[in-house]
Amino acid sequence: MSAKLTDIKGKRDKTRRPGEVDLDRIARGVRLILEGIGEDPNREGLRDTPERVADMYAELTAGMREDPSQHVVPLSGNKHDEMVIVKDISIASLCEHHLAPFVGKCHIAYIPKKGKILGVSKLARLAETFARRLQLQERLTSEIANTLFELLDPLGVMVVIEAEHTCMTLRGVKKSGAMTVTSAVLGGFRKDPRTRAEAMALITGK
Ligand SMILES: [Zn+2]
Repeated sequence: MSAKLTDIKGKRDKTRRPGEVDLDRIARGVRLILEGIGEDPNREGLRDTPERVADMYAELTAGMREDPSQHVVPLSGNKHDEMVIVKDISIASLCEHHLAPFVGKCHIAYIPKKGKILGVSKLARLAETFARRLQLQERLTSEIANTLFELLDPLGVMVVIEAEHTCMTLRGVKKSGAMTVTSAVLGGFRKDPRTRAEAMALITGK
């Protein structure tokens, strides 16, 4: 899913355009962090770390420089009007409070209108575009749901995300493996508790 890596990486020279990642600036910041924790940024193991971290942040925030609507391209000639559920889309995002990763699974359910459905890879790319930004899990969940609802125009959308926040689990605030679950429910799923329960049962496997 990182086929466009050359596009999202910024430039290290002065030809950087507005909106591109300033890798030099990130690297300078990482060097300051290393000094701040009492490390020697010039010791051998750390020599390339600032540049590597800068590349990583460019990749993990690539969604900021992507248009999510490019992924909402319905498959044509479809008659399907029953609920569609895509489970276990892997997501990796960065918590905007700590710049620490949160990782987990995204489940998307929707009821197509007039046979308008979206390929599984497009759904995954949509989730990834929003995940690769500084995020809150709640906002990530509703951004995916709102975008699908607006651009695919289905009868209903439900998005559920289960994720482990390393800013909590690595620091002992919560036990490792503790999951935060968020959901966003729109349209028919919101109005009809039975449809919502059916989707939730299919998603959780209960
Ligand atoms: Zn956090």
